[in-house]
Amino acid sequence: MSKPDISRTKSAELYEKAKTYFPGGVNSPVRAFKSVYGTPLFIEKGDGSHIWDADGNEFIDFCCSWGPLILGHNHPAVREKVTEVMQKGMSFGAPTALENELAELILNNNKYIEKIRFVSSGTEAVMSAIRLARGYTKRDKILKFEGCYHGHSDSLLVKAGSGLVTFGETSSAGVPKAFADETIVVSLDDTKALDGAFAEFKGEIAAVIIEPVPANNGLLLQDKAYLQYLRDICTQNGTMLIFDEVISGFRVGFEGAAAYYGIQPNIITYGKIIGGGLPVGAYGASAEVMDHISPIGSVYQAGTLSGNPVAMAAGIAQLSELLKPGFYDDLHSKTARFVNEVQQFVNERGYPVKLFTIGSIFWFAFTEQERISTAEQIDPASMVKFKEMHRELLNRGIYMGPSGYEVGFISSAHTQEDLEITKTAIFDSLDIVF
Ligand code: PLP
Repeated sequence: MSKPDISRTKSAELYEKAKTYFPGGVNSPVRAFKSVYGTPLFIEKGDGSHIWDADGNEFIDFCCSWGPLILGHNHPAVREKVTEVMQKGMSFGAPTALENELAELILNNNKYIEKIRFVSSGTEAVMSAIRLARGYTKRDKILKFEGCYHGHSDSLLVKAGSGLVTFGETSSAGVPKAFADETIVVSLDDTKALDGAFAEFKGEIAAVIIEPVPANNGLLLQDKAYLQYLRDICTQNGTMLIFDEVISGFRVGFEGAAAYYGIQPNIITYGKIIGGGLPVGAYGASAEVMDHISPIGSVYQAGTLSGNPVAMAAGIAQLSELLKPGFYDDLHSKTARFVNEVQQFVNERGYPVKLFTIGSIFWFAFTEQERISTAEQIDPASMVKFKEMHRELLNRGIYMGPSGYEVGFISSAHTQEDLEITKTAIFDSLDIVF
């Protein structure tokens, strides 16, 4: 039976006010709950796997701030380190030992990059990586994939046009056509499209950028063979391969998707988990490539708050926890068990639902298809089912990201009890949806 809707009196009041301050009442569009029922919930606090909204509703959270909170909310190690560092000041615009400390933690445990540069968001990391690739190769064109998201910089807000190999079309007003003209967009999981693009733009493509674990448009898992094909074709053409690991970095393992698939990209971008919940992004590569960046190289990139000490502190504390023995094994097996049990229920009921998963990421696809590896395979009409499930789940105390195209994240803070409660809520919700 459907449960009554949770009370949203305070959230609704806050949202009305917010709409007078911010476009659409939010500071990032997906928060506006446009794809699901009701007004957005204003969150007051989080602890472990749970969050509480302004009306006092309590939820088990699978959004986890869209990925950064792999240890859950308000983890004591992160909180304590941040509190300690904050006592000494918030920002100096000068180097601090904390930057070295976070860099050492990463570089000593990641064989895919030799040098790193910290920035303040995933968007900034990707934007800078693209510039580095262009500066390094002295070429202008980049190639991206339909269904991969890389933040909101101009070159990347481009979607596929018509035809197999196309220049993209801008996917946001305000992006000059000239940017789209430098961005080639092809489908994922399609070696012919790649061959076509490299043949048509021979010697012109500076970089191919991909989410090696595409997780922003559903979870469009790629075969290792395809990623290897991509690596090889880039090498043959003197094109840099950029792995955008803003989600997969430190998530599918400490060394991210590069290690998961055993593929060496030329540049890797990071965000989300790296900052322990504070704004940090980063990009890294070999020392030789990274030394093309200012002040020693000719590729300019800078940031007032880059390497901010408080943000570095959060990153240091969080990444230190991830390096403890067994961290990823526990998290991944917990997730696999949860996903398997939900899938088993769905199969027994005969519902057209498939859960895709990697590491501690999962995605509900409302489909009969066994595999979805391209954006084009997702039926937008299926999102209605997600919308209904989302409402039922919220009413049962389960918070998923408010869009069926978004993935869910499991943190080390999710207990077996949380997952049992969640499974029951999912089963009851699906019985109502179907
Ligand atoms: N790249 C990927 C793969 C992402 O998932 C995101 C954000 O979701 C970004 C880049 C942009 O990161 P940010 O939102 O921190 O600017």
